Amino acid sequence: MEHTLIPITEETVFRFECIPGVACFNRCCRDLVQALTPYDVLRLRQGLGLPSGRFLERYTRTHIGPASGLPVVTLKPADEHTRVCPFVSPAGCRVYPHRPASCRTYPLVRSLSRVRATGAAVASFYLLREPHCGGFDTARERTVRSWIEDQALRVYNAENDRMMGLISAKNRMRPGPLPADAIAALRLALYDLDAFRARLAQGNIKEAGPLGEALAAALEGEDLQLLHAGLLWAQRLLDR
Ligand code: SF4
Ligand code: SF4
Repeated sequence: MEHTLIPITEETVFRFECIPGVACFNRCCRDLVQALTPYDVLRLRQGLGLPSGRFLERYTRTHIGPASGLPVVTLKPADEHTRVCPFVSPAGCRVYPHRPASCRTYPLVRSLSRVRATGAAVASFYLLREPHCGGFDTARERTVRSWIEDQALRVYNAENDRMMGLISAKNRMRPGPLPADAIAALRLALYDLDAFRARLAQGNIKEAGPLGEALAAALEGEDLQLLHAGLLWAQRLLDR
């Protein structure tokens, strides 16, 4: 049987639970090709208490997105044959409070489109029913809205939409491959925030105007503020 993609609203009720005792528990955490957004990396490495560079080296790989030409960070599997997630244990996810957006969203699918006239982003949701997933055979009923709240998806979606905006801008302004130094700079500003902060502190990154002010403020701020400034800086790099 094929999977089914069912259009839903936030009021739609569905039956689903992914807990120990479901026969397929943990199946989704292997055979992975898991891309991490900049916000996923921020949350995971904060949760693990690791500097960004150490987290990236230990748990991830960086590729070039074939469509976007941007750096893409994926989780490095714990085993190359099974491609199992480095964070799964027999009891479940070891980084559950900090797990990536894609792990939180399933079995929902969120699709983002833009209104041509205004450029406003509009999100649509679907329920992905896959025959191998025993979660749909459990008794727990919930609404899509309660799933979104329970999984803290609103903050993840809002942060990840910022990255979607950058990808759209890249495709619009700089289609095709980027030079190696631009790819390294984008990886720095989006994923390796400790190194980005150090470069800013050393005065190696200089910008004037509102962007310069945002970077100076972010240097003293929280990682999330630095990521927001990094996204602005990345956009400026692509504008040049
Ligand atoms: S981060 Fe957690 S939920 Fe996501 S694939 Fe890894 S073990 Fe599974
Ligand atoms: S297949 Fe469904 S129930 Fe099984 S681990 Fe994945 S999400 Fe959970």
